[in-house]
Amino acid sequence: MTTVLVIGGGIAGYCAALAARRDGAEVTVVARAPGATALYAGGMEIIDEIESILQRPNHPLTRLGIDAVGLATELDTAVSTLLLALRKEGLKFEGGWRNRGLYADIHGLARPANVVPETVARGELGALSGKRVAVIGVPEVGDYDARSTALALKELHGIDAFAEEVSIAELPTAAALTDLYGRRAPAPRARGAAIAYPPGFTNLPDDGFELLASPPSPHGWRLQQAIGLGAVHGEIISFETARGRITAARSADRAFHADAIVLATGRHIGGGLHAARSTTEPLLGLSVFYEGRPAESLGSRLHHLKYIDASEEMRIGLMTDRRLHPLDEDGSVPYANLYAAGAVLGGYDYAGPCGFGVPILTGWLAGRYAAKQ
Ligand SMILES: Cc1cc2nc3c(=O)[nH]c(=O)nc-3n(C[C@H](O)[C@H](O)[C@H](O)COP(=O)(O)OP(=O)(O)OC[C@H]3O[C@@H](n4cnc5c(N)ncnc54)[C@H](O)[C@@H]3O)c2cc1C
Repeated sequence: MTTVLVIGGGIAGYCAALAARRDGAEVTVVARAPGATALYAGGMEIIDEIESILQRPNHPLTRLGIDAVGLATELDTAVSTLLLALRKEGLKFEGGWRNRGLYADIHGLARPANVVPETVARGELGALSGKRVAVIGVPEVGDYDARSTALALKELHGIDAFAEEVSIAELPTAAALTDLYGRRAPAPRARGAAIAYPPGFTNLPDDGFELLASPPSPHGWRLQQAIGLGAVHGEIISFETARGRITAARSADRAFHADAIVLATGRHIGGGLHAARSTTEPLLGLSVFYEGRPAESLGSRLHHLKYIDASEEMRIGLMTDRRLHPLDEDGSVPYANLYAAGAVLGGYDYAGPCGFGVPILTGWLAGRYAAKQ
């Protein structure tokens, strides 16, 4: 049986492990801490238009060398397997990569998403247009104002929203939104077509829904807890290599031997990339690229770009071949049994319409390719 080691406990590592196990491999996931997945707002942005992505030569999905029909087929399997696995862990999601909805965050601003938790789905803004919606506020909580949220829902989205403050006496002094996490949802006095709750409550009424979060995110924390079950807690700090292959990865107190390794270490928050004067990949010293060019060769150009548009620097990352092997600057593959997936990859807008799509699909395919070693 092929043994696969996945380094990283975010959504990319989880999808890699799902796929490799499905293809018969024995999989170990090692993760040192929650990464960006634990901070996501609550709406998975998977993909917008496949055809337009395929026009971008450095996009990680274009580099797979799979046509639009093939990508759609892989997305169907990856997303449905992911949602089924999460359901088994007790987290229900709705939607699919082919549909997009708009959901309000705690400030009433709309964010697009393809897949959302069941508790968020009822708050799709198009469906609430013109309807009367109670927005629950908690006067003891200082970092959220239901009245502003209701106003934004009214002005920006044409929803007949009104705030209703419900006191929760046992909250600590100077309580924050995070203090609501895990508490039973309070019932409002006035009813509308729906009730919008700040994220984190449990036992929502049938007509209740959760708003999207800003970090720290209850949606992210629930997801991270569900996908983290079964991962080994540890930090990989070095590797053993022989004849162009990685034979083992080491943490402080253990060696993990495997036939194939999936690097799903995330971007700056996860720790997969290290941002300094020049961005580096800290574990294996892999080459880092910006729009197909080695980042090293750009000198201070990227620093300059960052001030003009912060998202520019976020397109930096590893570049891979069709089988998701990371590439050296000269286009060669340094390790034949190493695969990379998720936000450690460059060439796409990390905070854009593939925020979860790139980690899900590249994780899924990296797991499959690794299992076939
Ligand atoms: C604040 C914020 C909000 C976001 N909101 C959204 C959203 O609403 N919708 C959306 O689609 N996208 C969103 N994104 C983007 C999305 O969250 C990320 O693209 C995605 O979660 C990345 O997943 P990942 O698995 O690649 O990386 P991560 O989730 O960062 O996981 C990386 C993992 O690697 C581990 N790791 C790293 N180095 C080592 C090591 N040496 N040894 C062991 N483990 C290691 C880390 O501990 C971590 O477990 C958001 C991002 C941020 C930062």
